[in-house]
Amino acid sequence: MFRPSLVHWAVIGTVVFLLAPGLAGQVAPDSRQVSSADFLSAPDSGLSPRLSHIFSGINASLVGGYLEELVAIGPRVNNRAGCEEAAEYIAQQFRDMGLITYMHPWTAWGNRGHPGRFSGRNVVGELPGTDASSDAIFVFNAHYDTVRNTPGADDDASGVAAVLAAAHVLSQHRFAHTIKFIAFSGEEVGLLGSHAYARAAFDWDEPIVVEFNADMIGHAHGENGSRFRMYGTEDAEWVMGVVEDLNAASAINFTLTSGFVTRSRQGGSDYASFAQYGYETLAFFEYEWNPHMHTPEDTLDNVNISYLVNTTRLITISLAELASTPALPRQAVIDLPQRGGLYVDGVRRWSFSSSRTAVVGDATVSVSYRFGSGPVEKVEFYVDDQLVHTDTTAPYSWTGDRLLLGRHEVKVHLYDQTGLASTDIMSAFFVSR
Ligand SMILES: [Zn+2]
Repeated sequence: MFRPSLVHWAVIGTVVFLLAPGLAGQVAPDSRQVSSADFLSAPDSGLSPRLSHIFSGINASLVGGYLEELVAIGPRVNNRAGCEEAAEYIAQQFRDMGLITYMHPWTAWGNRGHPGRFSGRNVVGELPGTDASSDAIFVFNAHYDTVRNTPGADDDASGVAAVLAAAHVLSQHRFAHTIKFIAFSGEEVGLLGSHAYARAAFDWDEPIVVEFNADMIGHAHGENGSRFRMYGTEDAEWVMGVVEDLNAASAINFTLTSGFVTRSRQGGSDYASFAQYGYETLAFFEYEWNPHMHTPEDTLDNVNISYLVNTTRLITISLAELASTPALPRQAVIDLPQRGGLYVDGVRRWSFSSSRTAVVGDATVSVSYRFGSGPVEKVEFYVDDQLVHTDTTAPYSWTGDRLLLGRHEVKVHLYDQTGLASTDIMSAFFVSR
């Protein structure tokens, strides 16, 4: 089977661009037809000039090049050399783009299916925002580790290639807010790398507006090449709206399937690590089930490059648009009890290694927020979906006034001039009266 090299991709891309600059965004049925000259969809006039430029910067040569180099490393199994080689490769790409580049080392126990101690390094490339008054961060991540005996082309070199391609193109522009491009390891053994990152971000109160997760975004045949999935937390619905609008305005025009994810500790990919710590997340997946996942057949040949280019384009222009948004919606944060701690009479006495939270004695709940402007109208406090308190003045809090034994769900609604601006929701184990 023909496996195009980086040079091949460059040649194919250039030839197609020269021969057919105006082709519409039709998707090739699979990668074997990649030279059928139909993957360079023309940027539509519905996009701003800057977004059009970013859109066309994401092409088969760029995305295919990263994909091929990642896959060439071979299986990228946690605790093995292939994984470390991939980390070095990704870090070098970020450095070459001029991003602030660093490794975030982690060590953790694997999940039930993957017992044992694992360690690895998340690779972060940061593009600092230009607005000095903004501390807002957008995260775009994918995982570079694989299970054994697979080249992991779609799972998830496709996502990492998208992160690298987005970083490459966006690093040539400036945005008001900071963008962090992250390649995680430890995903296949229990979302370990992303959990370590999200936990540290949460403990440091890192103001992440939304996390974009790309895991398996390059597999499609026929009609499925015009379909794409996204699943987000409920507060990220406005972000889904941005993606939908840009999808319609661009030449891609995927049929988008969307839905909501919960904030539980379980989840199919790294987005769950962010969701369980209260961050907003939007996870992207190919529409079609990939039967090659976790097999030796998850190869370059089974990735549809034209589809991967289009999925990467949509994610990248969405990120660019969001990172330029002047007014970010308010985000409520339950800061007492803080996730991952054991509280006794309101004082943190222990930190769990997970987002598990326990409250003994005083069950005070307090709320702060990130972003937004104008006054906060009120904060409503709910226990198990029952309204227990409304606070109209800062600091916003509810002093526990009832018997709570066992697991309960605490939810807060924050209202400002936009109406219900944000919800935060967490569950904790209470021994409180
Ligand atoms: Zn994956």
